[in-house]
Amino acid sequence: MLYPIIGLGHPTLRKIAQPIDKDYPNLDQLIADMYETMYNADGVGLAAPQIDLSIRLVVIGFRPYDEKTDTYGDPAEEHTLINPEILEYLGDKQYFNEGCLSIPDIHEDVLRPEGLRLRWYDQQWQLHEEEIHGMFARVAQHEIDHLNGKVFTDRLSPIRKTMIKRKINDVVNGRVRTAYRMKTNKK
Ligand code: ZN
Repeated sequence: MLYPIIGLGHPTLRKIAQPIDKDYPNLDQLIADMYETMYNADGVGLAAPQIDLSIRLVVIGFRPYDEKTDTYGDPAEEHTLINPEILEYLGDKQYFNEGCLSIPDIHEDVLRPEGLRLRWYDQQWQLHEEEIHGMFARVAQHEIDHLNGKVFTDRLSPIRKTMIKRKINDVVNGRVRTAYRMKTNKK
């Protein structure tokens, strides 16, 4: 089932999401639906608050890039993060061009640490505590921000924020066209 994705301006995107436990109802179906919703929208990550569920659940799926052959792997590398927790930041900070399904048509370079030590439960409720790097670490940080009521544009410099203010207002006011179904606070 495809969920509508809520846009910036919707209050759920600004809430601190709550942890879940093994008794959360129909979790497997919800996770499957989140992957379907993310891929349908050409996203590489989706946090539950983006479908108006204020819980600490994230799905990530991207085709890993291989520098040697200059190709993208198939199938996608997927990670389901339940109650993820960043334990430590690793490596240098780097810029990477980010976008967000809740903020269509805006792409900006965002500075974040390259790696993380991350603790999370997977869909089988196995506990992981791993050092993660590259694309996985980048997307995980963007999605964990969503669990904490933050979006990537919050992390831009004041000058960049000013420059994209009009586009942000368009999103907040529901003046966006997307190939996927969105629910903004104005429609
Ligand atoms: Zn996002």
